[in-house]
Amino acid sequence: MNRIEFLDVLMNQPIINSHSHHLPDERHHTLTLEDIFNNSYVGWCGVAVPSGDDRKEIAEWLDAVGNRSYFVWLEKALMELYGIEERLDADNWNIFDSAIRQAHQDKDWHINLLRKKCGYEAIVLDTYWSPGEDNGHPKLFKPAYRINSILYGYNQTAKDHNGNNIQIMHGRSITDIDEYLDFIDQVVLDAKRVGSVALKCAIAYDRSLNFGEASKEEAQKAMTEDPDKGDIKKFQDYVFDYLCRLAAKLDIPMQIHTGLGLMESSNAMELQPIIASNPETTFLLMHGSYPWTSDIAGLTHVYPNVCADLCWLPLISPAAAHRLLHELIDVCNADRMVWGCDTWTSEESYGAKLAFLHVLSRVLSKRVEAGLMDEEGAFRFAKAVMYDNATGLFGVSEN
Ligand SMILES: [Zn+2]
Repeated sequence: MNRIEFLDVLMNQPIINSHSHHLPDERHHTLTLEDIFNNSYVGWCGVAVPSGDDRKEIAEWLDAVGNRSYFVWLEKALMELYGIEERLDADNWNIFDSAIRQAHQDKDWHINLLRKKCGYEAIVLDTYWSPGEDNGHPKLFKPAYRINSILYGYNQTAKDHNGNNIQIMHGRSITDIDEYLDFIDQVVLDAKRVGSVALKCAIAYDRSLNFGEASKEEAQKAMTEDPDKGDIKKFQDYVFDYLCRLAAKLDIPMQIHTGLGLMESSNAMELQPIIASNPETTFLLMHGSYPWTSDIAGLTHVYPNVCADLCWLPLISPAAAHRLLHELIDVCNADRMVWGCDTWTSEESYGAKLAFLHVLSRVLSKRVEAGLMDEEGAFRFAKAVMYDNATGLFGVSEN
């Protein structure tokens, strides 16, 4: 089987998607081409998405972002999903836009794309704007409970980068660390009871991943006095360790954003001490710790409680995903890798799937060709990463 044939087979395999931020239903019903770009990583490229159909503005924007991987895979997805053979340009911008608006007249279009076109049987959903939601589709979406707000609950004024503070969200004014830990137990237990299958830490957008040791007394300090940076760090270090233990107790994985973010010690190796001291916790290290991708390979090699979640990485850079995947196949067992789209719309999600399978088929067919794997083993590996591993890790299976 050559690479293209292998890709064809993989495109038709079901997937359990480890990570998504899929927007609530009503946001899709009025979707435009501009909305899709604004709610995609292309919107992160530092040049404003054209807000009208000014040809000069569109042409300049495409010149600026057209080479970015984020754009390339979203464009491929849009062309395929809307049956348009030409690449996006200033002349056909309105054709793409009309096709998108038209399709979303069908209110189920976005869900059907996820189920039928992307082949997702379950999607782990991180609704950071309102942690723990399933967007009203509990069979398809399995919440990952975002815990950043818990790391910012030391007083009434702190906020995580999404503007959340767990005490404010629940109308509490706790100033005692023991009482706070009981409160956390309740919040996390409730989240699990209503369907959460993982905890999700995106603290790399707030501070470094350098979680150190901290005592309960040190954590208490941030709750009672006007805390300085050091007090806040100790509180977060202590509470995060507590949450890792709680995840183990409840038998759900801790997903952690690694790489990029604030770029302030966001490399996965910063997590080595907390991983080593929590052997019962399953850590899903996300995004390949880009650009420090070998950190993931090293950590999976040494720690059996670490899994690589390749979500987002193939969209950031297929070249980096290609390199890391080869490395992971070399050093990490086949049952410790998963993938997710990490996107807000179905269109970009499909682009993310295209990018991932492009990388996966290329890497596996290369290894078969080089005599490092046989075809059957390559297929088994792909199925593990796309489906089987996630069923065990998140305790989800087909509907
Ligand atoms: Zn994400």
